[in-house]
Amino acid sequence: MAEKACKNCHRIVEGDVCAVCNESSFSDEWRGHVIIIDPENSKIAERMNVDTPGRYALRVR
Ligand SMILES: [Zn+2]
Repeated sequence: MAEKACKNCHRIVEGDVCAVCNESSFSDEWRGHVIIIDPENSKIAERMNVDTPGRYALRVR
């Protein structure tokens, strides 16, 4: 089963609702992923506006 990414926050989601933003608008067309462990000290997290650890897609269509 293909994983999906949240169109709003780019989090790679499991289940029906995004754990971060509670959106349910997902895409299965995404590329690349990053694992953010420590959002407060991550430049990538800062750039992506991520403040919850987890897996995120770099690009979501
Ligand atoms: Zn989300």
